[in-house]
Amino acid sequence: MTFQRIKRKLHNLTHPVVGEVWMMHRVVEQRSVKPGQRDLEVTPAWLEQKINDYRAKGWKFVSIDNLPKKGKWVCITFDDGYRDNYTLAYPLLKQLDVPFAVYVSTGFLDNHNEMWWYPGQQLAMSTDELKTLDTDSLCTIGAHTVNHLKLDSLSVEQQIAEIKNSKDELEQLLGHPIRHFSFPHGAYNDDTIAICQGLGFQTVARSWGGPLRRGASRRVLNRIEAIQP
Ligand SMILES: [Zn+2]
Repeated sequence: MTFQRIKRKLHNLTHPVVGEVWMMHRVVEQRSVKPGQRDLEVTPAWLEQKINDYRAKGWKFVSIDNLPKKGKWVCITFDDGYRDNYTLAYPLLKQLDVPFAVYVSTGFLDNHNEMWWYPGQQLAMSTDELKTLDTDSLCTIGAHTVNHLKLDSLSVEQQIAEIKNSKDELEQLLGHPIRHFSFPHGAYNDDTIAICQGLGFQTVARSWGGPLRRGASRRVLNRIEAIQP
């Protein structure tokens, strides 16, 4: 075993897992055939089973607004702002009393811009659906830029515009501060972190990193992709 692997093993022993932030996208009755789309989709039955399995093992489902200091907990998040988050995920999670967050790219709202990885389909949430979701304390709305670009490929000025404009637009629509953000494509750099700090986000979320271990950052969150086999 290499020195690095031994170091990691020792670290993991003294830093047990306290939480998992799940990154999800869509909940659908019928999953797509194309792998790039299919991996973004889970069925309600699969999600319900996974939640029940975790609960049976003693995990609690928590809101991103109040991540507990001690485990074990799961925080469910959805990226992009798909309409099925409202029509399928919400009723299920409401019934199971599971909090969740939805990170919205504001350019997609009302299908103004196309989610280009689903060409020709109108999959985005409407402004009214977003407002309805936001009235339920189970749901926390976060920002996910305007145009869903790779932030680390933009200038600082462009990054500021993408991040701040999505936050501002959501705040105007919903009438309260937006405190959470996730990076489109998981892409960011040091400027992104500085901008998000400057804008006062309580958490920002990666799309990788595995579970949260004791001592892990509660401001820059690791996430785990919840992928249905
Ligand atoms: Zn996204």
